[in-house]
Amino acid sequence: MGRKFFVGGNWKCNGTSEEVKKIVSTLNAGEVPSQDVVEVVVSPPFVFLQLVKSLLRPDFHVAAQNCWVKKGGAFTGEVSAEMLVNLGIPWVILGHSERRLILGESNEFVGDKVAYALAQGLKVIACVGETLEQRESGSTMDVVAAQTKAIAERVSDWSNVVLAYEPVWAIGTGKVATPAQAQEVHSELRKWLQVNTSPEVAATIRIIYGGSVSGANCKELAAKPDVDGFLVGGASLKPEFIDIIKSAE
Ligand code: PGA
Repeated sequence: MGRKFFVGGNWKCNGTSEEVKKIVSTLNAGEVPSQDVVEVVVSPPFVFLQLVKSLLRPDFHVAAQNCWVKKGGAFTGEVSAEMLVNLGIPWVILGHSERRLILGESNEFVGDKVAYALAQGLKVIACVGETLEQRESGSTMDVVAAQTKAIAERVSDWSNVVLAYEPVWAIGTGKVATPAQAQEVHSELRKWLQVNTSPEVAATIRIIYGGSVSGANCKELAAKPDVDGFLVGGASLKPEFIDIIKSAE
């Protein structure tokens, strides 16, 4: 069974409403493979979600960049999964390394968020990845396995999860992982899932790569058998995002 290629655009904390409209019109004009070949999801900041959703071509979808860990209520500044569902936002990114490292989100907290969001009916792009220090000390697989385990302990149905492997040292640095480095971790993650979840989950889950993906390097990465797509930061704000989507073919 083929895994449909998945390309996510993580706009992070960027953009004005004018800039957002410009990005959307570029995306809307882009010639890309059909929805049967590639699933495209863009993730603007919360405040632009509805604007983007209202303007975006129907074959692309939107994702929030985060949501709260449980039912909404007295949690000033947070946005609940229920609210995203209420607005018709189908996807959410959870466990991005910027939230883990800058906002202090632990593996368990991210696991709780993933489980809660899925239970509300959201689809989740769950991010894992090691720091440079962890890679250099040889603990890459231990780190990403522990991050994945915290999700696996709380989630049994993985059909609405895309797993994003994003080495922290590659994010926003221009230092992309080599195709061999990405393939190695993706294949190890798939093996981990085979043993710790089920062979079916391991065979069907999309494992996408993120970290300095560009129009120039996407084709070589996409050619690797366990790279099922990308989570793109910086380049998702630029016209080259269309070229990255085209690497699905
Ligand atoms: P980058 O970010 O493409 O700018 O490296 C990727 C991400 O953080 O998802």
